Amino acid sequence: MPTFDYDLFVIGGGSGGVRSARVAASLGKKVAIAEEYRYGGTCVIRGCVPKKLFVYASQFHEHFEDAAGFGWTVGESSFDWKKLVAAKDGEIARLEGLYKKGLAGANAEILEARAELVDAHTIKLLKTGETVTAKTIVIATGGRPNPHEALPGHELCISSNEAFHLEELPKSILIAGGGYIAVEFANIFHGLGVETTLIYRGAEILSRFDEDLRRGLHEAMAAKGIRILCQDVMQQVTKGENGLVIETLKNGTLNAGIVMLALGRDPNTQGLGLDKAGVAVNERGAILVDDYSRTNVENIYALGDVTDRVQLTPVAIHEAMCFIETEYKNNPTKPDYDLIPTAVFSQPEIGTVGLSEEEAGKRYKELEVYRAQFRPLKATLSGRAEKMIMKLIVDAASRKVVGAHILGHDAGEMAQLLGITLKAGCTKDDFDRTMALHPTAAEELVTMYAPSYRIRDGQRI
Ligand SMILES: Cc1cc2nc3c(=O)[nH]c(=O)nc-3n(C[C@H](O)[C@H](O)[C@H](O)COP(=O)(O)OP(=O)(O)OC[C@H]3O[C@@H](n4cnc5c(N)ncnc54)[C@H](O)[C@@H]3O)c2cc1C
Repeated sequence: MPTFDYDLFVIGGGSGGVRSARVAASLGKKVAIAEEYRYGGTCVIRGCVPKKLFVYASQFHEHFEDAAGFGWTVGESSFDWKKLVAAKDGEIARLEGLYKKGLAGANAEILEARAELVDAHTIKLLKTGETVTAKTIVIATGGRPNPHEALPGHELCISSNEAFHLEELPKSILIAGGGYIAVEFANIFHGLGVETTLIYRGAEILSRFDEDLRRGLHEAMAAKGIRILCQDVMQQVTKGENGLVIETLKNGTLNAGIVMLALGRDPNTQGLGLDKAGVAVNERGAILVDDYSRTNVENIYALGDVTDRVQLTPVAIHEAMCFIETEYKNNPTKPDYDLIPTAVFSQPEIGTVGLSEEEAGKRYKELEVYRAQFRPLKATLSGRAEKMIMKLIVDAASRKVVGAHILGHDAGEMAQLLGITLKAGCTKDDFDRTMALHPTAAEELVTMYAPSYRIRDGQRI
């Protein structure tokens, strides 16, 4: 039997990597983990967490406006970007410390270095040039923003990475993309007082979400003053006298202080030495894995965004836990991707689980669609025009709820709980016999007694 320096070597200290290393170490394995930037990875350092903190920051201006309807007089308010960034950085540093503490507490060796594969069992640490060996390797190197190199002037643009550390807020921003990161940042910047334009080549923002919610969110964002240009693309970005000049295909010349590209994310596999270890990738550079996150090389696993399956933090963590079961507990476990609740932290928010009406229409012969659109109670006194949308998609034959979709305040929080009900296989009858909790917006989910319409063979009837 060959001997190795470590039982497990993990490359990448993000959501999936840290979980794999910490739990394996806590099982008594000899583990090392290498991170080239900061522990916590995308989610903690420049993804979910700082983004949500920015979302909160961007909502205050509406809270101040709403307060008047409830009798409050709010004095003159002002916003200090630098103060927000500093406060956010403080929290991120605290979380990074907790990640390292967890690893150290489990006796994992923490390496602050870029790591590359030399062969299927050997890893080189670039900081020192030292090589180490491991019986098992987990690659959890995540992804990075697609730089859109084909766009002339792409080097003048920023990505979400830089958006977290702008020296100052621009007067205007143009964000390219129609995915959740583009949409969330459009709402963040608009809420902080930046004149915001979103440009997207598709017919409607947020493809793959339920059509109703996509349209509802588009209308709500436009009503707030966010300019959304669909079915258009940037052709070039140049420096002008007052910021950047953007040539578009359909909307002519636009100007913006900053252009942010949010056009998808590429797997972080460049220069990783995958070829030396014989690890196969697809045409996008994502590592190919089987149902258990094992690569084509027996002792090397890959999980999280680098495999380009579902790019979400809880999914990367779940894949890590399945790896632990498979490799160290003699319990081969496949990650379960069915019914993943997701949110878009736009304003208003989207929370969703299960199939969209369009997807469900392709899979089921007949559907009942329960739909409610209403003004939430808070908006009556605040005077805000925003409407909430709630939808349940029900398979008429089995009465199972196969999709639940919400647009409005706290939609993400509701989607997490709806995720449990759908996972448990709840039927519409289960929803009907659940007592309403009054007065809440969520009570609408258990009081939609008659279908709003039906879909048969994909057609609305
Ligand atoms: C702006 C933004 C917002 C997001 N919001 C959400 C959200 O609200 N909810 C949600 O669930 N998900 C969200 N995500 C996605 C989420 O962040 C990722 O799905 C998650 O971080 C993936 O975890 P991972 O372990 O695969 O990779 P990562 O967390 O990206 O970690 C990979 C780590 O590997 C390191 N690394 C790379 N190469 C090497 C190397 N050769 N040697 C050493 N270290 C290396 C990187 O520095 C990085 O720290 C968001 C992402 C972005 C960009």
